[in-house]
Formats: sequence, structure tokens, C-alpha cells
Amino acid sequence: MSSPVVRSRNVLKRNSMRFAAALLAALASFVGAPNAALAAGPQHHDQVPGFYRLKVGDLEVTALYDGTGVFDPHWLNGTKATMDGVVKALHEDPHMLDVVDMGFLVNTGKHLILVDAGAGTWWGGGALGRLAGNLHSAGYASEEVDIVLVTHLHSDHAGGLTTQDGKRVFPNADVYVAKAESEFWLSHEMAAKAPKDAQPFFQSAQAIAAPYIKAGKWHTFSGSEQIVDGMQLVPLPGHTPGHTGYEFSSKGQKILFWGDIIHAQRVQLQHPEVTAIFDIDQTAAAATRHQLLSKLAGEDVLIAAPHSSLFPALGRLRKDGSGYSWVPVVFTDRWDENQ
Ligand SMILES: [Zn+2]
Repeated sequence: MSSPVVRSRNVLKRNSMRFAAALLAALASFVGAPNAALAAGPQHHDQVPGFYRLKVGDLEVTALYDGTGVFDPHWLNGTKATMDGVVKALHEDPHMLDVVDMGFLVNTGKHLILVDAGAGTWWGGGALGRLAGNLHSAGYASEEVDIVLVTHLHSDHAGGLTTQDGKRVFPNADVYVAKAESEFWLSHEMAAKAPKDAQPFFQSAQAIAAPYIKAGKWHTFSGSEQIVDGMQLVPLPGHTPGHTGYEFSSKGQKILFWGDIIHAQRVQLQHPEVTAIFDIDQTAAAATRHQLLSKLAGEDVLIAAPHSSLFPALGRLRKDGSGYSWVPVVFTDRWDENQ
């Protein structure tokens, strides 16, 4: 005896066959006749706005797209065997190192907090810098942002704070960054000692910070200060001296904004020992990543990863063989379904 499911499938099949026959007959009657109705319409090249919202307890979290780029394999440091494997895999899959750049907005009901600000005009030759536009598309004005938390001062995370002519993009925001981070990048002495290719990182960090310092809106933290209720500072040293994650909790749910723990998701999750040339302390960066990935794989913490290879760069981590795999947040258009 067939189950109700199979029966209803058969009915569907019968109906669709009848429909197909009717359609064929209708099409046949048009053959030879000029028919504008069947011509393809113009292609539509507009894309959906680059934001995605989800709920973490009582928090509204909005991922804000800043742009897409490609991570150069020469920016990765690993053993010869691992890097040979990466080059071979790239040959077969040229999009393996495609990455997004993202910032994230947290509306706590009391504060509108931006975590990382994208690149603005300071990185990527125009490929990045769309965060402010997407913030607007998400229904917010940059004047409404009252706090910005910066994971570190590389310009793909802090550049969106300031225009090239030195204006604050978030005029009402207090910006927070780790003291070690601020002192390192804003030091003229450090900048003078740095190798030539590192100089632009210092110059941009100083130019980006300047108008906020002048306005008294640049703040540093050095320990576990409480900046916002329900948010904890998570020191993640290595990539930069004061690289910091921000973990928000609400109603038993957690989200960690982890900054640059991963640059090349499809390499470093399987090989957490692989570092990036931008990691100032390579050993510490690898150790921090090992420790954090193993901790997160055992917890139900949502992760906001600015350089994920998948928009909206939100997901969870699971142990997978000797490495980890990324479990992405799957799109839904229902606010109450998405957690
Ligand atoms: Zn980055």
C-alpha cells in the first residue's frame, strides 16, 4: 500500500504531466508567429544589499559587507609540504583563497556598536570600502553608531572610520582599541624602525586615528575593563600586539567577533599552524589560533569572521579530522528563525 506521501507525489506527477502537455500545445500554436512575449527580458545586474541580520539572544547583529578580495598564497607561511599542497589545490580550484572583508553591527537596544569598520578608502584599490553604504541599506545612519570596537588597527578593519581628508565617518562614536595595539601603530618611533613595506600600515593607522584622538573619542583598554554590559574582551595576541576579540552574550547565546584569527579559511582551518606574513608575532599567532579553534569547536558559540570565504561570514566551528570545518549560518528571510 502506498503511503500518503507517495500518493500525493503521484498526484503531483500526473498534474505536472497534464500541465506540461498543455504548455507544449500552447507553445506550438505560437510557432512561426512574431512573439515579443517570449523574448528574454534585459538582464538585471543589481545585487542584493550587502547586509545580513540575525538574532543572538536579545541582540540584533547585522553583518556588513565591505568587499571581496583574493588572498595571495605568498602571504601564507607553512611547511614546504603544506604550501606545495596549497599551490596544487589552487591550480585545481583557483577560487580557494577568495575572501570577503566584513564589519558587524550590534544593536543592544541601548547602544549601536560597530565591530570593525572595513577598509574605507585605505586598502584594496576600490575593491573594498562598501561598509558605510551597506550600513545605510540596513536602515542605520553612521551618526547613530555610538561605539566602535576595533579588533586591530590594520586598515582593512579600521580604514572605514576616517575619510582620506581626515573626517570622522562616525562622528558620534567613541572608538575602543587595545592599549598595546594603539601604542604600537601610533608610535612614530616604531614606524621609523619598521621595514619599508610595513610603513604604510603605520601611516594609515595614524591618519585613521588622528581625528578621533583630536575629538577625545579614541579610548584604549588594557585588561578586562567593562566597556559595554554583556560584552567581554578576548585578548588574541599574535597577529598584532593588541589583537582583541569581542564576545557578546545575551540570554545564554554568544557571538565572538574574532578579527584576523583566520585569513585563508580553507587553508588555516585544516592547518592552523599556517600563519600569514601580516602576523607580527608568527609563533604567538599560531598558538592563539590553535588554542581558540580547539576551544570554540567544543562550544556553541557563533563566530563572526571578517575574512571568511562565505558571506555573511557568520558560522560555527566543528572538529574535522586533524583540523576544523566551518558550519556557515544558512540564509533565511525570517528574523525569528535565524539564530
Ligand atoms: Zn584583516
